[in-house]
Amino acid sequence: MALYIVEEECISCGDCEPVCPTVSIKEGAIVFEINAKTCTECKDDFDSPECVRVCPIDNCILPLEA
Ligand code: SF4
Ligand code: SF4
Repeated sequence: MALYIVEEECISCGDCEPVCPTVSIKEGAIVFEINAKTCTECKDDFDSPECVRVCPIDNCILPLEA
């Protein structure tokens, strides 16, 4: 249960980092990255993923298929 940031779409604006309730988003070597071990898809905190809500790019943050 986690999301991931699509490298080809992310513009590294950083808008997603401060809104993550589990502090799972960090700037990576190329673009921003989500820690799949700690991302909860915001299930305990919001009705929908906060990072997706604030990201200006469509389809930039997607479900990580197990
Ligand atoms: S879905 Fe929620 S917990 Fe997961 S990275 Fe986005 S803001 Fe953080
Ligand atoms: S808000 Fe979207 S475009 Fe901006 S850093 Fe996060 S994933 Fe990348």
